Order: sequence, then C-alpha cells, then structure tokens
Amino acid sequence: MDKQMNRRKFLSLSALAGAGALFAPQVALSSVRQPDEAITDESTPGIPTRILGKTGIEIPILSMGVMRADNPAVLRAAYRAGLTHFDTAHGYQKGKNEEMVGAFFKDKDRSTFTIATKVPANLQAENFEEEYEEKLNLSLRRLQMDYVDIFYTHAVENTGILNDPRLVKMLTKFKEEGKIKHIGFSTHANKPEQIDEAIAAGIYEVCLVSYNFKLDILPELDAAIQRGVDAGMGFVAMKTMVGGVEDADGAQKIDGAACLRWVWQNPNITTAIPGFTSFDLLDNCLEAAHSPALQEQDIRYLAQLKQNEMLYCQNCGACVRECRHHLAVIPAIMRAYMYNYGYKLPSMSKETLAGLSLTGKECDGCASCTVRCPSGFKVAEKIAAITPVLQVPDYFLA
Ligand code: SF4
Ligand code: SF4
Repeated sequence: MDKQMNRRKFLSLSALAGAGALFAPQVALSSVRQPDEAITDESTPGIPTRILGKTGIEIPILSMGVMRADNPAVLRAAYRAGLTHFDTAHGYQKGKNEEMVGAFFKDKDRSTFTIATKVPANLQAENFEEEYEEKLNLSLRRLQMDYVDIFYTHAVENTGILNDPRLVKMLTKFKEEGKIKHIGFSTHANKPEQIDEAIAAGIYEVCLVSYNFKLDILPELDAAIQRGVDAGMGFVAMKTMVGGVEDADGAQKIDGAACLRWVWQNPNITTAIPGFTSFDLLDNCLEAAHSPALQEQDIRYLAQLKQNEMLYCQNCGACVRECRHHLAVIPAIMRAYMYNYGYKLPSMSKETLAGLSLTGKECDGCASCTVRCPSGFKVAEKIAAITPVLQVPDYFLA
C-alpha cells in the first residue's frame, strides 16, 4: 500500500486494526540524562533518528521548539533527555529566547547539538540587505555562536519571496561566510506553492512547515513535501499540536503524544519541534518519541478531535477571499488569538498583532460577516476579542 493511501486512511476507524500496540512506561523521561552529560548513542536509547535531507544532519524525531520556553531548566532537561536540535528565532521574546539558548549552550560541545534560528525578510525595506544581515549578526551575538546550523527566512506567507534575487544573494553570502550552515524557510501559508518555489530556487535545504492532522490540504501538502524530499530538502514540522488545546475556549490540554505520533507517520518529516514549556509536556513528548508508532487510541482520539473547532488557523486563505474588504491580516490575527488563548501568551499575541499595522477598525461597517471559515471560526468575533490586547501595557502581559 502506498504512503498516500496510508495517510488518507489512518484517521478512519477502519484503519484501527493496522495500528501498532507499542507503549511507553510512565516515567519522568526528562530526567534520563545527568547534568552536562555528553550526548552519545548509548545515552539516548529508543528515540529514532532521521536524516534532514541533503544537509546530512541526523537528528532525533523529537526536537525542541524553544519559542515559548523561558525556563532554562526545561531546555536542560530536553538536552539531557537526548534531544539534539533546538529551534529559536530572532523575534522570540524580543531576543531573550536566543539569549537563553546561547547562555545554556555556551559551554557545551558544539558537536552535540544543532541550532536553528529565523529572521523575517522585509523585502519592502530599502535597506533590506543591511537590516537582514544586522539581524543575523545580532542573533549570533545573542546565541554566542559563530554560526547557526539552520537559518530560516521566517514565516514566508506569500509566493515571490523565496526566489527574490536579493534574498537569494544574501542567503548565499551568509552561507559562504560560514555564518549559517544550511539555508531554510518557515511557512504557514501557501505551503505547496512555497515548497515548489523553493525547489526551483535551488538554494533551500530545509523547510519548517506547519503540519498536523487538522490540515484540509494534506494530500496537496504531502505531494509537495515529497517533491521537496526528491529534490533533497529536509522537512521539520511545527504547529503539530494545533494550538495546544482541544477546544475553542482553550480549556482542555491536548494529548501532544498522539499529535506527534501522527506527524511521524510521514517518513518525509525528519523531526517535530513542539514548544514544550513544562516538564510534564516534555515528558509527554518524550514518551511519544520513545514509542512513536501510532496507536489505536491515538487514532480514535484524533478522529474525534478533527471535528472540534479548536484554535488552529489552517491559513487556507478562504477568509481573505470571502471578507468584504479582503482583509489579508485575518489569518495572522487568528494566530495571535491562538497565542493568547491556546499558548496563554498575551505578550506574543500582542507582538504578532503589532507587526500587522492594524487600524483597530478592520471590521467596521459590516452588518454581517461574509466569511465562512472551514475551521468554524467566527472571525469577526475573534478579531474583536483579540485586537484590544494591543492597548494593554507590556508590563501587564505574560
Ligand atoms: S481563519 Fe479560517 S478561513 Fe481564514 S485562513 Fe484560518 S482557517 Fe482559513
Ligand atoms: S466582519 Fe470583518 S472579517 Fe467579516 S466580512 Fe466584514 S470586514 Fe471582513
């Protein structure tokens, strides 16, 4: 049976009989390794590894999205537990995230971990080249590193960016200078198109892509990922837990292990970068990594969850087309909503909104909203609920 067939079938209850019956012991896996212990094959039993495309980097299927973590003890626990790949970004926590990663890894053997960071490409800026390079240099200073292993152009949402000659030139220059080992991009929107553009551009080695069981465009996305893999690209999955909560109220925590096991069914995904912020969630992820086969209860759970509204915006773009004013910012506002109600991070929500140049009158004058979101979002209500966070002083926000 081919892979596409397997992936289409797995959420169907008829596929239950094919699921594996592996299980993991309920132990605190984050405490497996000792302080500052070097990572070796012997110390990391049980977490499978995969190769990240033509970069040749071999990493465990579980990595750490450091984005929301502000406690270095969680980072330490992840490293001790055998994770080797850590993902941050220039903008996370206004630079404090990179600083925390840098402080933790400064005395570690550089061969025991790989670091990815991201900088958005503001191609509208007249001084794009200067600004882009300055940001990379600042990231390297915060990280206290001479180079990052993967450098992503952050959140590429529109086509026509990845193949922009100015961006291609700068990324090539960074790589030639040794400041970055591998070139990548991250994307939430127009993903199949972005992947094809990256293949055509020829310089991209890694794609960080939002990837989870909720996506309506999975067949198209899986096909594009396959084309990327055939061209030598490696794929890293983010947004695997669709916002971290099970319902639209943000009340109930999601079973991250089931979400991760689903992601790993696709052998073209090298690793996933869930953003665990607590030891409990880390243990939940490690449990999955040590027992990665999709289980019967995972399939039942995800099949039921697929029907829920939840908080994850698929970035399908339907709202932009259907909105009377074609508000291009709606998906990003929905992401800000998820950061607040799902991640419980109002500061990150405000940061996301602040980057959108909102007027505060986005939905003014509409008697009734014309948007029919396939994820069931009442977008006008969510816009009204989240945009006031822009007025809240930073010192009140977590
Ligand atoms: S808000 Fe709904 S319609 Fe708009 S991009 Fe997100 S999932 Fe699609
Ligand atoms: S209410 Fe807002 S989102 Fe809905 S159609 Fe009007 S402007 Fe667009």
